[in-house]
Amino acid sequence: MTLIKEQRKQYGNAKADLPVLSVKDLQVTFKTYGGTVQAVRGVSFDVFRGETLAIVGESGCGKSVTSSAIMGLIPSPPGEITGGQVVFKGKDLTSLSKKEMREIRGVDISMIFQDPMTALNPTLKIGDQLTEGIRQHQKISGAEAKKKAVEMMKLVGIPNPEERLKQYPHQFSGGMRQRIVIAIALMCEPELLIADEPTTALDVTIQAQILELFQEIQEKTGVSIILITHDLGVVAKIAHRIAVMYAGKIAETGTKREIFYQPQHPYTKGLLNSVPRLDLKGKALEPIEGTPPDLFSPPVGCPFAARCPHAMVVCDKLMPETEQLTFTHKASCWLLDERANPA
Ligand code: SF4
Repeated sequence: MTLIKEQRKQYGNAKADLPVLSVKDLQVTFKTYGGTVQAVRGVSFDVFRGETLAIVGESGCGKSVTSSAIMGLIPSPPGEITGGQVVFKGKDLTSLSKKEMREIRGVDISMIFQDPMTALNPTLKIGDQLTEGIRQHQKISGAEAKKKAVEMMKLVGIPNPEERLKQYPHQFSGGMRQRIVIAIALMCEPELLIADEPTTALDVTIQAQILELFQEIQEKTGVSIILITHDLGVVAKIAHRIAVMYAGKIAETGTKREIFYQPQHPYTKGLLNSVPRLDLKGKALEPIEGTPPDLFSPPVGCPFAARCPHAMVVCDKLMPETEQLTFTHKASCWLLDERANPA
């Protein structure tokens, strides 16, 4: 077995060597009356077939803007992709027309949002909402679309699908509505699913069921998932790899094991120390003091410098380079660079 395959096996993806999606040096800005916000500042990552990549970080770190940029959903103006590429199946999505992007969205790449109630149309029967997208994108009869809808309702665990297709969203519980949103996203058998805080609006027991559902669907269909979340509990449950974002940049990427047990970036360590962990019972929680930098005029050096307990002189002056620590583990911190001078 090659080194690449061996290492991929560690994080649950031994199926393919080429990424389904490659985000390369992505930059997104928003023009406001107060100036230009540099929301995403050179983000790069790959997503492989059959894996779940979690993008984690505090609100405003750029994780949702990154997912909107992948989907071609940055409102322009005021938003603009000012640099970088989003390569999906050999095509740079940032260079496609709105029409070409519509053909990919909901078909090859689907998105699941936080609140199932706002994602569903309250005036349309569930069956119509499930079949609407597939009938727009594929030459398929009404009967075939309905058959597919029943199949998807079964896949996401909704009992009596034939009957329930005739019902409206308000006739379903919150957890069932999120299952329907997932079924809609899967109707065209996408290769990539982007789930933005998919369980935040649900209560804890339903959250666990939905996370299990993501795992089951991935095992059955091989779909790749980008999970956007601030919740490390959700990440621990279903992610294979994790990208930690801070102030519009990726601070650290690694397998779940590397991030949870061998974190190298002080921000990742701070995040892990600020949430309760079952595997570290009795350890006192330590919140990260301070606030993230102003992205109207981000610092020239490390964006975490003002909050970092290990900050050195160089940290304020120069941005650290990204160090490749293992095949899967990368972090951007001067502590990992032997040229840094702690004095
Ligand atoms: Fe802290 Fe410096 Fe590393 Fe930034 S580069 S995380 S300030 S030690």
